[in-house]
Amino acid sequence: MKVVVIGAGVVGTACAWYLAKEGHEVVVVERREGAGLETSFANGGQVSPCHAEPWANPSVIPKVIKWLGREDAPLLFRWGRWDPALWAWGLRFLANCTSERAITNTERTLRVALYSKLCLQQLRAETGIEYDQRSQGILHVYRDGREFDHACAAAEVMRRHGLARQPKSAAESVAIEPALGAVAHQLAGGIFTPDDESGDAHKFTRELARLAMAKGVEFRWNVPVLGLARDGNRVGGLATEAGAVTGDAYVLAAGCDSTLLARPLGLRLPIVPAKGYSVTVPVANHAGAPCVSITDDEHKMVYSRLGNRLRAAGTAEMAGYDPSLNEKRVAMILGHARALFPDGGDFERAEPWAGLRPVTPDSIPLLGVTPFSNLWLNTGHGTLGWTMACGSGRLIAAMISGKPTEVSLDGLSMQRFT
Ligand SMILES: Cc1cc2nc3c(=O)[nH]c(=O)nc-3n(C[C@H](O)[C@H](O)[C@H](O)COP(=O)(O)OP(=O)(O)OC[C@H]3O[C@@H](n4cnc5c(N)ncnc54)[C@H](O)[C@@H]3O)c2cc1C
Repeated sequence: MKVVVIGAGVVGTACAWYLAKEGHEVVVVERREGAGLETSFANGGQVSPCHAEPWANPSVIPKVIKWLGREDAPLLFRWGRWDPALWAWGLRFLANCTSERAITNTERTLRVALYSKLCLQQLRAETGIEYDQRSQGILHVYRDGREFDHACAAAEVMRRHGLARQPKSAAESVAIEPALGAVAHQLAGGIFTPDDESGDAHKFTRELARLAMAKGVEFRWNVPVLGLARDGNRVGGLATEAGAVTGDAYVLAAGCDSTLLARPLGLRLPIVPAKGYSVTVPVANHAGAPCVSITDDEHKMVYSRLGNRLRAAGTAEMAGYDPSLNEKRVAMILGHARALFPDGGDFERAEPWAGLRPVTPDSIPLLGVTPFSNLWLNTGHGTLGWTMACGSGRLIAAMISGKPTEVSLDGLSMQRFT
């Protein structure tokens, strides 16, 4: 079968890889000059099923109210303008803020994320792909005792789903990551997830595209898709700036732009962009950069050591499709990074970046079938696209090949919103 994948981010590239492994002829159409140059470019680097708790949960509403109007809020809504799609998304988000929904959504995300981590490990063993990966776990640190207690209770729920989450005292946390020594006196404790990993998503995507090309996958760079042509209940082809591209099946993996491409077909995908920021800091001769990946829940920040660089990333700004850098927010994350790791690197040479996470109201991606018999969705991975890319790609490849999937697809398709 000839399968056309739209988008060569980490999600589309991983999907192309697994489709090629299933023996399909694969064409990837990408508007940029290479793979992984948009949201997959400089993310937090964490492969973290431990982050499966959705944004929508009962505790988020009081926090969002507290943060309203604050330019330094970890989660900032700029919803002044009237955009029906945005407000519809907001209502669905609110509907998912119950304890029951949060548990269901956590379970669904965990199902994909844990499967994905296995797929990534297999892919690594099979190909020897290098992407500054580390398998040293992730340590969540807490300054507030109540937040720490809440996290310990949540850890219990996750443990029931087979995720190792180990509560640690402040001293034990510093023993796991000595670079936290400077702030040891501020810590209430930590939760360690030893099975989580980290690595450079862009390097991975670029390398995987190279390996996929060697397997026969064709990447068409610098080719923006203008629209999908409808042919009854099928997609008949893609209109692109370089002419029509046709195949037997199509996978929409265009990150935030998936919504824009799907809309003319009458498909309303509940995905909105949530802008996040990162800074990449050269470690140089500085001795205080962490080796274990760190999550600071209070500031919604993550830190990953990528070779001789320290990546600090986080925050979310719901401000539409604007990817521009807001200097205040860059300064804020740089300030958080310096405060946690004062000798973590050469902060004067930090490289700032912003990317748009494709976020659904329940934090679960849209995977699988659509009302069009040959169109498949692989999009909406939100905060965990790097974590879930390999598993999502393998699931879609199995579905298109008519094979049974290795984990249940229950609750993953867009049907949950219709
Ligand atoms: C600050 C930040 C930190 C993050 N940290 C983490 C983390 O630690 N762990 C984690 O798992 N996830 C993390 N994420 C989320 C993760 O980066 C995303 O979920 C993931 O990159 C989404 O991948 P994607 O392939 O769906 O989208 P993208 O990487 O955006 O890829 C979509 C591709 O489609 C192409 N495209 C779009 N429209 C068209 C068109 N019309 N024609 C042709 N091509 C098109 C784009 O050019 C792009 O290359 C983070 C995100 C941000 C912003």
